[in-house]
Order: sequence, then C-alpha cells, then structure tokens
Amino acid sequence: MYSRIQEQDLLGQDPEIRRLWQRSIRGLLIVFGAVALWACDSAPQPDQVLISNVHIVDPVEGLVPDQQVLIEAGQIISVENSGTELPANPNRKVRDAAGQFLTPGLWDMHVHFVFDPALTNEMADLFLDYGITSVRDTGGDIDALAALRAQLPTPKPNIYISGPLLDGQFVVYDGTDASRPELGTPVLRPEDADATVAALQQAGADFIKIYELIRPDTYAALVAAANARNMPIASHVPLMMTADTAGPLAGSMEHLRNIELACARNWTELLEERQRRITNFTEGLGHSLRAGLHNDQRLPAIAAYDEQRCNTVLDTLTNTIQVPTLRLNTVRHLKPFLREDWPEAFATLPEATKESWTNLINLFENMPASDPAFSEWSVFLIERLLARGVPIGAGTDTPIGLGIPGYSLHTELEMLVSGGMTPQQALFAATVTPARFHDLQDDVGQIKPGMRADLLLLQNNPLTDIRRTRGIEAVMLAGQWVR
Ligand SMILES: [Zn+2]
Repeated sequence: MYSRIQEQDLLGQDPEIRRLWQRSIRGLLIVFGAVALWACDSAPQPDQVLISNVHIVDPVEGLVPDQQVLIEAGQIISVENSGTELPANPNRKVRDAAGQFLTPGLWDMHVHFVFDPALTNEMADLFLDYGITSVRDTGGDIDALAALRAQLPTPKPNIYISGPLLDGQFVVYDGTDASRPELGTPVLRPEDADATVAALQQAGADFIKIYELIRPDTYAALVAAANARNMPIASHVPLMMTADTAGPLAGSMEHLRNIELACARNWTELLEERQRRITNFTEGLGHSLRAGLHNDQRLPAIAAYDEQRCNTVLDTLTNTIQVPTLRLNTVRHLKPFLREDWPEAFATLPEATKESWTNLINLFENMPASDPAFSEWSVFLIERLLARGVPIGAGTDTPIGLGIPGYSLHTELEMLVSGGMTPQQALFAATVTPARFHDLQDDVGQIKPGMRADLLLLQNNPLTDIRRTRGIEAVMLAGQWVR
C-alpha cells in the first residue's frame, strides 16, 4: 500500500508515463537478475552424457557417419557432427565411441511375461542384456502384469501390456495345462465389450488383444470400446472372420496366421465351414476347436493360394502392422537349438526353464517331420507384404516355442531379412513401427533431439549385416548406461 501511494505521488495520474516507468523498472530487474546468475559460479550444471565420434544408424535416415550425441535428463538434446564445440560443463561424461555404431534401443512387439513362471522375473534383465529397451506384452492376467511392471527393479525395459487374450465362449488359453496357461478370458456378448475394456484400462492396460474364437459382433464392439478409450488394438484374425474384414480395424495383427485362409481361391467356402463349426461347437476345449480348424484348413488354403485374391486382402492392411513372428512360425524346421550361439544364450536361463525346454527339444527331435508349408509360406509372405506396402513389426512370442527373451529378437531380425527386408527395414520394424503402434513415434524409435535416450551401441555396422545387432557394446536406457 505504502509503495503504491509513493509511486502515484511520483508519477501522477498519466497512465502512459506510469506504464513506461513500470516497464523500465521491470527491465532493470531482469538485467540485474541475469547478471547475478551469470556471476554466480556455483550454479549447478546439468548431468550430461556425450557419445562422441559415433556412426549413427537411424532406421529412417540410414547411416550418418561421425556424429556426437548429447544426452540430458533421459533425452537426446542434440545430434551434431563430431567435434562441434559445446559449452563447457564439468558434469558431462564423455564416451568416445570411435568406430562404433549407435542405433535406437530395440523393441520386441510380442512377448508373454506370465507364460513360464520360472522365467517371469528374469525376462526384463534378459531383454536389456540383448539391447531390447521396450516390449509389448500381448497377453496375460492384467493384475499379474500390472503388479510385475510396478515391482520389477530398475533398470527395466519400458513395458506395455494388454492384459488377457479376449476370446470367445471357448477360450484357447484356458489354463488346462502348462502348455496353455490361463492367458485368455471369454467375452461372451457385444454388450460385455465396453465394461471389459474399461476394466482393463482401469487396471493398467495400454492396449487390448483380441483372440481367435471371438464372434464378429463382439469383435466390432471391442474395437468400438477400445477406440472410445484411445487404446490401440492387437489381434489375431478371428476364425469367424477374414484378415481383410478384421484386420483394418486393428493396429496390429499377429503371426500372419489365418491370412492364408483369406488368400485362398476358395476362401468363402473355408469361411462358411469355419463359421458353421464354431457355431455348432457346444462342448469341449477351445484349444481343440481351434486346432481342428487350423489342421483342416491351413495347408489346403496354402495349396489354394491365389496371388490376385491375396493382393486384395493385403491392400486392406496398409494401416495394420503385421507382426509375423517368423521365429515362432518356423521353429519346427529351423530348430533354434542348432544355432552356433544357442548354447551360450541357453545357459543364461533359469534351471527349471532349461529342464522343461530340454524335454521340449527332445520331443521336437522325436516327432515325425511336419509339413514345412506354413513355415515357408510365412517367410514368403514378407516379400508380398513389402510389395503391397503393409507395415511389418518385429516380435517373437518369447518365451513360447523356445524363444529366449532378448536373444530371439535378433533371430527374428535375421529372418525378416531372409524374407526380403533390408537390414534398415528390419531395424525400422523393431524401432519406429512399434513406436507407431503406441503413437509414440515422436518420443522414441529414432536418434533425434527430443527423443528418449534409449540407445544401443554396436561394434559393427548392422546395415551391412543384420546379425551385427548381436555385437552389443553398451545399452542406454533413458540416458543411463545399463549394460
Ligand atoms: Zn503370443
């Protein structure tokens, strides 16, 4: 009150003079403040990391040689030519990465944390060991997954969860035995969809996952419920539908499975037969129902492959990421346990897992050879997806089908390249594409200012040989070196 009276006395009532005076006082205060800050030597400088002399391998731009990447507070601050002068900062740690290659941290778009209880708590560490900094868990009990995500010690990869496979009246993963733990839950009627999705989101789900025995009207209701809540949708092709009717409604589809049914010359006949059998199934296991349909239709559909029909199907999927899981689709024929680097990776697994997998491998080895048609067709389809502009994402289904967490993603990248992708496209499939599924493409997946500093330092250039993603020098998660 006192100062205001004084000010009025000094300046009189002219509003223009008062405004000028007030403005110059404010200006002076700002100048004094800035001088005081500048003079104060003890002002703390932020902690920074500088990766210098590194070749950047960006999934979009390709190779950008001899760069320096400045990181602060978990984010990339600048990317410049090596040697560009930076303001002095005693709290900056420099890592000379001369001759090395920097890529964004990798994603595995298809994992199951709660499939093998012996592995559940080990998976996060294994992902980081192999440079996988983000994962999408595509099915399991939502409360178990949300609790796991909260309780895992840091550092841990970024984990995105869907909760259970939303299935039909008969649930495929119903918990009947160890090979089919209870990953699924039934959604019986379209009227149940909204409450189901709302409850999942409430419990921490980032997206939903729809499964193969869902009914078409319930599928549509789940899609509407997820869209209303801004939740992305991952799905298998429901067996009562076709890839070109279900696919365009989902953000991603898994395993390429059931696309062969839509690509067959006689696809309408096959569809009617499936719909009839599912409708008439009133008793038994969901797993048996699905296995029966796959057994009876898959190979005949591949034999009846019609490229023109398939182009029509694939052209509906240009906004739906396909996660081929080639590693899984080919596991019976390309036996991962025969790989040279398998024993070392296998040795890192918990004893209980090693034991059950050894039994599984023996079982594989003693089974009569199965028809490789689906395995070969899956690899073949990569080239067709590329030709029709269908986006492809890298995922493994680990630990299902001998998928070692982390390790198996590198196998998947190799197989995507063997199917026709360039190494850069394969890297894109494990970085930018999964980020797009979650609408995170501005935050993660490339090496650009403003993006999260989830990074992978490699010894050699993966663009000339994708197997070089295995040669990991260091892993950075949100600006911290974690390996
Ligand atoms: Zn899966």
